[in-house]
Amino acid sequence: MNEQIPSQSTPLESNSPFELRVNLAIGVPESVVKTALRTGDMGFLHSFTTGSTVDGPGVRLVAWTAGCHWRCLYCHNPDTWSMINGLPVTLEQAIAELAKYRHGLNLMSGGLTLSGGEPLMQDRFAIRLLTAAKKMGVHTAIETNGHLGDRLTDEEIGQLDLVLLGLKTTPARHAQLTGKEMGPTLKFARRLSRLQRRIWVRFVLVPGLTDDPDDIEQIAEFAADLDAVDRVEVLPFHQMGRYKWKELGIDYRLDHTEPPTPEMLEQVCEQFRAVGLKAF
Ligand code: SF4
Repeated sequence: MNEQIPSQSTPLESNSPFELRVNLAIGVPESVVKTALRTGDMGFLHSFTTGSTVDGPGVRLVAWTAGCHWRCLYCHNPDTWSMINGLPVTLEQAIAELAKYRHGLNLMSGGLTLSGGEPLMQDRFAIRLLTAAKKMGVHTAIETNGHLGDRLTDEEIGQLDLVLLGLKTTPARHAQLTGKEMGPTLKFARRLSRLQRRIWVRFVLVPGLTDDPDDIEQIAEFAADLDAVDRVEVLPFHQMGRYKWKELGIDYRLDHTEPPTPEMLEQVCEQFRAVGLKAF
């Protein structure tokens, strides 16, 4: 560990990304953070979790990165918005952690997934870790909102076996829902498709917020046009992250929003299937 990084006792592994983690990088000098972002020699991670079966194919090791510049109203991990909340981890440490699991991951047809937060906030660290995984023969996936996709070269995108791409709503409603425009995400999606990278679209169904059938039709048509989408995952909104908003003192506007019913989820899946996509 770099001498300039304060020692800390929080373990890198956590049982769940729903564990609230804050201020783990407090005391790391700004110059060290800047160098880390420029070189990727160090990353800021909420945690590693093992045994995930929902973040890509097979059984996966998931590295949850800290830092996101979006502010989705339904975000269930707002503690990952700030990089300062992440644990400073050197690239070597992260690779060593991955090496512990590589045989098991391959045996279980799994791999490494980077999620967050937004992993491309730390694009150098992310791509170096994923490249190391590929060299070990480990399948690589990244869950991203796609907004910072321009930070990756075509060759770097070649290191991504799978992209779990969040399509959250239509361009017209995007800034209201996430705080950012949707254009860069759509551009990245088209680029992935052109480079023949595989995509799993992730769409979170939030009653009253993302459930307009016309909007869903628009998203479905965009995804179907990409020609690289292997599946669409329709994820139900839930309240598991509400306590984090409260603990962090952030105004939470979805206190009274209920999760969608199974019938609502099925109806949305049907809309994606109607344009020829596999949806679950
Ligand atoms: S992009 Fe993901 S991590 Fe960022 S605010 Fe939205 S849901 Fe949260």
